[in-house]
Amino acid sequence: MSSDQEKKEKDRRRRRVNRLKKLILGSILCMIVIPVFCAVFLGVRVVSLKHQVEELTDRLRVYETGQVQDGTETNIITETAENPDSADGAATADSDHIAQQPLRENEETDDMISVYLTFDDGPSAETDRILDILKEYDVKATFFVIGKTDENSVKAYQRIVEEGHTLGMHSYSHQYAQVYASQEAFEDDLTSLQDYLFSITGMESTFYRFPGGSSNKVSKIPMSDLIQCLKERNITYFDWNVSSGDASGTQLSSQTIINNVMNGINGAHKNYVVLFHDSAAKKTTVDALPEIIEQILAMEHTQILPITGDTEPVQHRIN
Ligand code: ZN
Repeated sequence: MSSDQEKKEKDRRRRRVNRLKKLILGSILCMIVIPVFCAVFLGVRVVSLKHQVEELTDRLRVYETGQVQDGTETNIITETAENPDSADGAATADSDHIAQQPLRENEETDDMISVYLTFDDGPSAETDRILDILKEYDVKATFFVIGKTDENSVKAYQRIVEEGHTLGMHSYSHQYAQVYASQEAFEDDLTSLQDYLFSITGMESTFYRFPGGSSNKVSKIPMSDLIQCLKERNITYFDWNVSSGDASGTQLSSQTIINNVMNGINGAHKNYVVLFHDSAAKKTTVDALPEIIEQILAMEHTQILPITGDTEPVQHRIN
């Protein structure tokens, strides 16, 4: 081999070695850069998903506490008069307050947690017992009442107001088919109840709870129209974010009602609106009340208040 040929062969070998070196270096770089990039990307995804999970868990918790808590949530509306003390035949459907989606909620900003005890469907044979318990503990509540003309009911409306509780409206007839038949029917019913309560108590009620809640699936007219109608009359509607579960068809034990309420007041909010029913058939609700009040009052930074014009409303997402 001539020295010229040797030199050429050496050059070729050097170039081949250089190419190989570059290839190895490139491979090593890729092996480092790609995993690092993947790790960063996945890390960011994990953090973002974690936030989403937390948000959904929060929402689920709120949703669950708004449910009829023994799992007997029902979409069947019974229009039969179930309230034995309903002297004027105003039917109270115990299986109301359906389709509960308490998500649109405004929170108070101060440090205190506020609990609002609310009683629907009264007055009833149990109203006095409820009022006696509230008086004993010096606690004010809110009654979303329906229209009843018997003597005991008239006294009950007056006692509610005289003892400093909030008198809210829950429709005059509480007949879903009637209240939600048309906007006109809704307004007529509303006017009847507001005027009636004013004539008895001298108070014009400005608070409303829709039969079945604002998220009910019964109304034939859009709930947004009815909400607008309340707004025009300066009436604020309240749903709930804690259910005692006492709307259930089967009577719950008072211990179950206590558990439902206390589990519902779970620290996720500053504002808790608790749903109870004031009905002759709901004796265990009243039996549960002293223990519930004692447990709430024993909680730190927690107060029991009646709904007022200053209360931030708890309102479901409407259908
Ligand atoms: Zn009701």
